[in-house]
Amino acid sequence: MRYAITAPFRRANLCHCTRCRKHSGSVGSAQGRVPAAGFTLLAGAELLRVWRPADGGMAKVFCRVCGSSLFGGSWPDGEEVSVRLGPLDGDPGITIQFHSFASELAPWEVPYEDGLPRHDGPPPPRPR
Ligand SMILES: [Zn+2]
Repeated sequence: MRYAITAPFRRANLCHCTRCRKHSGSVGSAQGRVPAAGFTLLAGAELLRVWRPADGGMAKVFCRVCGSSLFGGSWPDGEEVSVRLGPLDGDPGITIQFHSFASELAPWEVPYEDGLPRHDGPPPPRPR
């Protein structure tokens, strides 16, 4: 799987929603948003598997060979691509800015004392 990100990430968060937790097998998804024009899938499109919740929730896109969680959001459409930060080899140039779905933290998680904003639901809309 190879892809190029040629625009700065607009935001990054750690999502604790139940779906991200189960999809990751861990505390949730660390993810960043890049403008669609700054994202190019270079190789491995045939390896992607997309799971879409029946209720219209956000897509979960993963590699069918290694199982890595790769993308989310409205994949493959939309003006932004939601990129999982874990699989990146280099520094994405951004750090986690807030927690989303903090109300869905697993009972076994330790409280986050990082001073970052915590949203009990999805991130608030980005200012235009
Ligand atoms: Zn989530």
